[in-house]
Amino acid sequence: MVKITGFVTRDVRFPTSLDKTGSDAMNAAGDYSSAYCIIKTDSQHEGHGMTFTIGRGNEIVCAAISTIASLVVGKDLDEITADWGKTWRYLVSDSQLRWIGPEKGVIHLALGAVVNGLWDLWAKTLAKPVWRIIADMTPEEVVRCIDFRYITDALTPEEAVALLKEVEPTKQDRIRDAEQNRAVPAYTTSAGWLGYSEEKLKALLAQSVEDGFKHFKLKVGGSLENDKRRLTIAREAIGYDKGNVLMVDANQVWSVPEAITYMKELAQFKPWFIEEPTSPDDVLGHAAIRKALSDTPYGPIGVATGEMCQNRVMFKQFLQAGALTVLQPDACRVGGVNECLAILLLARKFGIPIVPHSGGVGLPEYTQHLSTIDYVVISGKRSLLEYVDHLHEHFEHPASVKDGYIVTPTEPGYSVQMKPDSMEQYSFPGEPGKSWWTSEEAKPILTGPRI
Ligand SMILES: [Mg+2]
Repeated sequence: MVKITGFVTRDVRFPTSLDKTGSDAMNAAGDYSSAYCIIKTDSQHEGHGMTFTIGRGNEIVCAAISTIASLVVGKDLDEITADWGKTWRYLVSDSQLRWIGPEKGVIHLALGAVVNGLWDLWAKTLAKPVWRIIADMTPEEVVRCIDFRYITDALTPEEAVALLKEVEPTKQDRIRDAEQNRAVPAYTTSAGWLGYSEEKLKALLAQSVEDGFKHFKLKVGGSLENDKRRLTIAREAIGYDKGNVLMVDANQVWSVPEAITYMKELAQFKPWFIEEPTSPDDVLGHAAIRKALSDTPYGPIGVATGEMCQNRVMFKQFLQAGALTVLQPDACRVGGVNECLAILLLARKFGIPIVPHSGGVGLPEYTQHLSTIDYVVISGKRSLLEYVDHLHEHFEHPASVKDGYIVTPTEPGYSVQMKPDSMEQYSFPGEPGKSWWTSEEAKPILTGPRI
């Protein structure tokens, strides 16, 4: 028996704004950060969970993590995992905390860190990676992980069990694929950040082609002229007829009519989809954009969103409205593994592929599990996963790519355990002499203008 005895939170920030890694039309200079939660127990195991932010405000998420994590202190892990759907409902049912959500915003980001920390802990006690725990469950056990409140008009637990049973007979074949690192094809955004120079773009694209990638995503939405030039460079590097796929991402900068006009201008570059064309809350706006771009002279352009979609209820509506070509859940913006399972099942029901959001520190470590679960257990089909090649060196068991596929994680846990030295070196505001944030180098970020 493992009893939860306490927790600590850590505010860890990496100064990525210095070189514009992660820059896009909305997020000009982010410092990739982790609001981190370590769940302590009376055993040798700890649960490590985190939520991704891009810097300022990370301390607010850490404070929210403390209010939620205290709900599990003193509990036995067995009690938490015996009926996960019930546990998840319990964690969102503190009525006073619910007022500052419910199930969205900072409090939900914090829930993601705590829930994922509990899964990491559970996986370590079972000596399995998280994806394997789900792969070894029966359909009924998978469905019991989910709180179906607010989604039964689109998907009932009984339907969910039936969907899982449809793909179950071939599950062992897909587990073998996963064990051979053939479950999750990867795509790259590493070349496409808006703040990178054209020379850097060219060099990184050439490298990505050489590394075996087939899908490439570029940020757009800064200026049309500039985007046309960058997309010309991209198409020169990856070709139109070599089986390479181009995607573009506007990070919410446009209103609905602007998105339609702008994307018609970029249609000649034949992108598969436009990601986050407008407000992440605008379900009907996304549906209108998808409809308007469904027959450009160069073919259809799909619509993708999800990295800032706050919960399963919103995803349900996006799907019901026919607003999505591709669904991109974030592993910690929604309430952790359990709510992700609900979202993956909703996507399966509506026949929409999932391509989880991974552009952030720790996200590829999480989403490699989710995409593997989707392939092995839920959709039975290979999709794609974003792989961003930054900051992996800070993790004990970093995500990696080989031959264009994600290397399936095999170590027990949920893969976001950060190295103690990295946590110390990048803790914020940090101790003088220990944290980078107390150095001279940090001053331009700390005292410069906020953008
Ligand atoms: Mg994006």
